[in-house]
Amino acid sequence: MARVMIDCPETGEPVYTGMTFDWPSFENIKIGQRLIRCSSCGDEHIWKRPDARLEEDGGGA
Ligand SMILES: [Zn+2]
Repeated sequence: MARVMIDCPETGEPVYTGMTFDWPSFENIKIGQRLIRCSSCGDEHIWKRPDARLEEDGGGA
């Protein structure tokens, strides 16, 4: 599984969205707009799939 990450629009830092997917699921799933409480700036952000990327969780590249 990989963690779904976005970049905070305020700080530019990577923020974990709280969602995890494996790669095939992420390719196929339909994600609408999602609201997260940002762990970087503390504000709330709306993100969509094109804003997100997967980060492998402890697997090494
Ligand atoms: Zn933020």
